[in-house]
Amino acid sequence: MIPYGRQDISDEDVAAVVAVLRSDFLTQGPAVPAFEAAVADWCGAAHAVAVNSATSALHVACMALELGPGDVLWTVPNTFVASANCALYCGAAVDFVDIDPQTYTMNVSALREKLEKASVKGRLPKVIVPVHLCGQSADMAAIGALARAYGVKVIEDASHAIGATYQGHPVGDCRHSDICVFSFHPVKIITTAEGGLATTQDPLLARKMQLARSHGITRDPAEMDQLPDGGWYYQQISLGYNYRMTEMQAALGLNQMTRLGAFVARRRALAARYDRLLSNLDLVRPAQSMDADSSWHLYVIRVPADKHLHVFDTMRAGGVAVNLHYIPVHLQPYYRAMGFGPGQFPQAEAYYGEAISIPVYFGLTEAEQDKVVEVLAGALA
Ligand SMILES: *Cc1c(COP(=O)(O)O)cnc(C)c1O
Repeated sequence: MIPYGRQDISDEDVAAVVAVLRSDFLTQGPAVPAFEAAVADWCGAAHAVAVNSATSALHVACMALELGPGDVLWTVPNTFVASANCALYCGAAVDFVDIDPQTYTMNVSALREKLEKASVKGRLPKVIVPVHLCGQSADMAAIGALARAYGVKVIEDASHAIGATYQGHPVGDCRHSDICVFSFHPVKIITTAEGGLATTQDPLLARKMQLARSHGITRDPAEMDQLPDGGWYYQQISLGYNYRMTEMQAALGLNQMTRLGAFVARRRALAARYDRLLSNLDLVRPAQSMDADSSWHLYVIRVPADKHLHVFDTMRAGGVAVNLHYIPVHLQPYYRAMGFGPGQFPQAEAYYGEAISIPVYFGLTEAEQDKVVEVLAGALA
């Protein structure tokens, strides 16, 4: 089977992890800060906080922005459930903004209208979470401007988008947001097996996320309400979790960062090749905004709704492990039980009825890509 996504692990990656295993620190050593510095440097962010998943990064980001009971977080429906669940962890409520039918990212006019109405009702969200689906940045300049106008905070879910740019600047520099979150799950652009990271330009938000990652415990006397009793002393000053990344994960991530440019370049070349090879088929290729240069985590095609299931099943039977990103979150039973249901977000629902993610990853060969196209063409015929 040709998978839809797959990690690329080099001998150097393996050596980096093995070196950590033989070192003094398996956790809380030098590799995590080195990895954080590498990502912050790539993104042009002042701060980076590594954690054990993007789900945890979204949670600590919401905590740092003091999302809580009585608050609301808005995200898009066509995302992984974690983009919405982070609000529920904080006791806040979730609502959704439909997507743009071309780029599949948060629809700016839908957001504007919804903010206007919410403002009149005195029910503005505290946080909005645009998702850079497939690696293509949402229209962050417009979203950031609206957020500022209404006093709303922004967390970018850039789980797909490390290595992407927006208006010529790296995703993760938080130019139009408060916090930006990346995932390092094996199918994503770089991997640490499990892992995630949040960038920010704000030192206070960074510190709050560090505390949330590790029990709310500080060893900094300046943050304590008394002088330390002795060298052993620490204080818990807020409620946190154990969301720490291990040294093995960070060493893997640090070495993967040296190939981020190559990973994204290869994905862009494969996407451009798909664009050519698929141009005569009865499907919609992924539209790209002039402002965004995608990292191409996913290459999503849309096929006629009446052929969707057939194409999906035929491709899987033909050795191509296609996938679908995503089932709209508001249609999940857990969310339906809160009152959400079909018909509320028609663009995300129409997308769900037609979308298929076809293979794109660093190690995909042109011969394999040709096979994907051949199987797809056969399924559509
Ligand atoms: C993968 C993903 C997440 C969660 O990432 P984990 O690192 O697996 O927790 C969140 N949001 C989106 C859009 C994702 O694709």
